[in-house]
Amino acid sequence: MESSTPDPKKRLLLHICCAPCSSAAIERLRSEYDLTGFFSNANIAPEPEYWRRLSEARRLAAELEIPFVVDTYDHADWLACIKGYEDEPEGGARCERCFAFSLSHAAAYAEANGFDLYTTTLSISPHKHTPTIFRVGHEQGPFLDVDLKKQAGFQRSLELSREYDLYRQDYCGCEFSLAQSRK
Ligand code: SF4
Repeated sequence: MESSTPDPKKRLLLHICCAPCSSAAIERLRSEYDLTGFFSNANIAPEPEYWRRLSEARRLAAELEIPFVVDTYDHADWLACIKGYEDEPEGGARCERCFAFSLSHAAAYAEANGFDLYTTTLSISPHKHTPTIFRVGHEQGPFLDVDLKKQAGFQRSLELSREYDLYRQDYCGCEFSLAQSRK
């Protein structure tokens, strides 16, 4: 009698922007993919905020038992990338460059480490334009189009944040979004 072995899951690198967004993303993707988290957020300022978000994302990944990789934090490099676009409103050209910065790092890591695909938790936010994320993602590498805000993904991230007692920031990440949130 022949026995059939199920196809192995594809290896998916999940760019993680923060713990709350990653919670529902991991829940949704882990049954179909062999997941690894990739925390790459050189956009975050001030620096203590970066370490706080990293700590929470790492804690959640450990609780959910997925591998977790941390990228270099180089905010000066990120500032050079968005130079000239500092005063753009949130959702504009600065954010597109910001997506490209993080996703280029994720795509490079995915390629260097044998992943089949990569994607990002960024699409779970109702404040972020999914078609722009997808376009920028494909420009960097083998991107998986998954719109995490669909199927009530953002709502689920709120529920899981309460369940895991996750820190939820009140601004997107960079100093420009922080200043805007305090107006
Ligand atoms: S508002 Fe958010 S997405 Fe836009 S540049 Fe700042 S950190 Fe990046």
